[in-house]
Amino acid sequence: MSLEIEIVPILSDNYVYLARETVSGKVLCVDPGEAAPVLARAEELGWDIDTILITHHHGDHVAGVKTLKAATGATVIGPGGDSQDIPGLDQSVADGDTVSFGSETFKVIGVYGHTSGHITYFAETDQALFSGDALFSVGCGRFFEGTAADMWPGLLKLRELPDASRVYCGHEYTATNVAFAVSIDADNAELHRYAGIVAMLRSEEMPTVPANLGLEKKINPFLRADDPTFAEKHGYQGQEGVTFLAHIRAGKDSF
Ligand code: ZN
Ligand code: FE
Repeated sequence: MSLEIEIVPILSDNYVYLARETVSGKVLCVDPGEAAPVLARAEELGWDIDTILITHHHGDHVAGVKTLKAATGATVIGPGGDSQDIPGLDQSVADGDTVSFGSETFKVIGVYGHTSGHITYFAETDQALFSGDALFSVGCGRFFEGTAADMWPGLLKLRELPDASRVYCGHEYTATNVAFAVSIDADNAELHRYAGIVAMLRSEEMPTVPANLGLEKKINPFLRADDPTFAEKHGYQGQEGVTFLAHIRAGKDSF
């Protein structure tokens, strides 16, 4: 593995990530919604934050950027194309760009709809995906600034990533997501097995991240909106994936 990744829980259910690239020793931070807990953890580890990666403009992902940047001198990389400016942004990136970080290369993948310019970062060597609020374990982000038509192409791009990929998402929403998924996909045996693991982890207050993308492809309803058998169970046979995705998202919004 080229990255050593530390989870820093902040606020009520957000995750910030610190990642150390093991060849260069460079350290990055993903979506610091607060600065103090991130600085404290980095100090404990003896890690100097060099780069801050941002997925989207929401406060719970960027509110710590200015303080963290002032304290560390880190370079802030994020979506210049989001609907609101990213504080302290030094380098604007967009879908299809790459970001070199020591021996690692991050591919920038746009997944729009939660915000209009939301991006995710895929570490090609380590096969770690920082998915922000676009993809959660067994869930996806609410469509605050878009529709299913905006989100679906992005989810398809994420689905093309290798099964071994680990998903580091922006929130610990897994238990609620699993409850919703079970309600619409009751005979999915792998989902039930995962529900047991999630319940066990959460009862110990352990994070459910990183999620495994290969498993997500089988149990995350939002990644399966074009599965004909799944669609048929909900009366969406023969419909486009995007149409069924809108139905699933509406169901989750009122769950
Ligand atoms: Zn958000
Ligand atoms: Fe968020």
